[in-house]
Amino acid sequence: MIGNALERRRKVLAPTYRLFYSEPVHIVRAEGVWMYDSDGRKYLDAYNNVPVVGHCHPQVVDAMTRQARILNTHTRYLTDKPLELAERLLATMPSELANVTLTCTGSDANDLAVRISKAATGGTGVIVTDFAYHGTTETIAGMSPSAGIEPGHGVFTVASPVAESAAELGARVRTCVARMRAAGVKPAALLVDTIFSSDGIGSHPAGFLADAVKAIREAGGLFIADEVQPGFGRTGNHMWGFQRHDVVPDIVTMGKPMGNGHPISAVVTRPEVIAEFAKRVRYFNTFGGNDVSCAVALAVLDVIEKEKLLANAHSTGVYLQQGLRNLARDFPRIVEVRGAGLFIGVQISSREETARIVNGLRDEGVLIGSAGRNGDVLKIRPPLPFGRAESDLLLTTLTKVLQKSAG
Ligand code: PMP
Repeated sequence: MIGNALERRRKVLAPTYRLFYSEPVHIVRAEGVWMYDSDGRKYLDAYNNVPVVGHCHPQVVDAMTRQARILNTHTRYLTDKPLELAERLLATMPSELANVTLTCTGSDANDLAVRISKAATGGTGVIVTDFAYHGTTETIAGMSPSAGIEPGHGVFTVASPVAESAAELGARVRTCVARMRAAGVKPAALLVDTIFSSDGIGSHPAGFLADAVKAIREAGGLFIADEVQPGFGRTGNHMWGFQRHDVVPDIVTMGKPMGNGHPISAVVTRPEVIAEFAKRVRYFNTFGGNDVSCAVALAVLDVIEKEKLLANAHSTGVYLQQGLRNLARDFPRIVEVRGAGLFIGVQISSREETARIVNGLRDEGVLIGSAGRNGDVLKIRPPLPFGRAESDLLLTTLTKVLQKSAG
């Protein structure tokens, strides 16, 4: 089965794609926190943040099929679902953030956010961390150093602060603004993933981002919070990653978990920030805000609330992080455990050992990934219904893999 699929894939898909794991997994179905391969083998999903309420959640699937039978059109008509969704999203945000633009992917949302920030400030310079990922459009790929692409015109980087909980990000942003000005570029925005997912997952104290936000505003730029990974309760107790830092962004972008696997994303702005862009541009995104995608996103919000997934992300996150720290005592190859809620980065002593652990876990039926500039951070980011039993299974399997691997 898998051999055949691999061959077919090589033949018909573009060679730009990459598969996870030395032995790729041929997934045919999934449910909750479990994924099943073509041989009927079951894997614990400790990696996928997109199915935030669990794979194929029946309430989400029902909402999708119900709406698909009634109406699916776009935002040039007056329909109810996009309004309902915008109202529900804004209710999760500080009151300063008051307008929603619906888009389709995280890249799409970040691209629009950057356009809005340039129109609002008259600047063109954007600051990102030096191993960030923000998406695939030409502009945003140029702001995604982790994709191995040279920074685009007007893009400046600050050192990723992941391994330093006391890093002074504000001072780095100020120095970066000075470099930008020396190059004749006017600042437009600081674009930050509020948990530094690709940089290696941060473990910063509450309020960490505040000085950096102050620094970009003093320079006349805006703060764009990229919530594509940390958003929708991932970091525990809060809906959005920026809330842990006590800042109110000028623009928030979101995507991935928003549709539990269905493509929908959004840009949320302060009204004064989008005013200039709206004066100049009549924005229309054919699929952004279609009624089916909105119905799906509404169901995701319902399930997050009904199943108390924010509280679970916090309590399971604390439990799992503690379990990983306990393991570090026996296995010094575990250098540090970082993260918030159910977004956990485990710093490992080397890239090779990280790859051995990730593949070893896969062979034992547990799926995780890796992150960071050196590929030496285990990335643990399961669907939010992940509980203590699943954490225990992950921990015992990891122990077994660590015992087996030479290190
Ligand atoms: N921002 C962040 C932080 C991301 O991790 C990603 C995707 N990995 C994106 C933006 C882009 O999202 P998409 O792939 O939906 O375009």
